[in-house]
Amino acid sequence: MDRADFNAAISQIYAAFNLDAPAAQTVNAWYDVAGHIPSGEAASWCVRKFIAEKSRLYRGDNVSRDLAELYEEYKRQREAERYRQQAVHAACPEYDPRIPGFVLVETRVENLSYRWLYRCRCNHDPRFARVPLYPSSAEDA
Ligand SMILES: [Zn+2]
Repeated sequence: MDRADFNAAISQIYAAFNLDAPAAQTVNAWYDVAGHIPSGEAASWCVRKFIAEKSRLYRGDNVSRDLAELYEEYKRQREAERYRQQAVHAACPEYDPRIPGFVLVETRVENLSYRWLYRCRCNHDPRFARVPLYPSSAEDA
């Protein structure tokens, strides 16, 4: 996170616990400990989890240490999820290493070509449609 994102994250946490944001010197010191958390998904996951898990925040709490620990947990969860996805899809009869879990279908209508992404046999994510090229069966659902 850059300093602006980090300050925003700290302000968000302190607002959630109905406390005024800590002094700039405190935030400086915390930035050394937790500033390496990437902005975006990782940072917002850590902030969300921090707020969800704590019932109270006290003035002297070392927020940066908790955030750094949460980021380690975030990385472990991401890694486990990545491994789980790969292990399932590598055994899939429709496995495509470029897009594990999906099947790319290209169609042409006159001069235009369209590319559609469907979920493969082992991907049960309901947000994606099942590929229509294969006969449907209970196994495909
Ligand atoms: Zn699959």
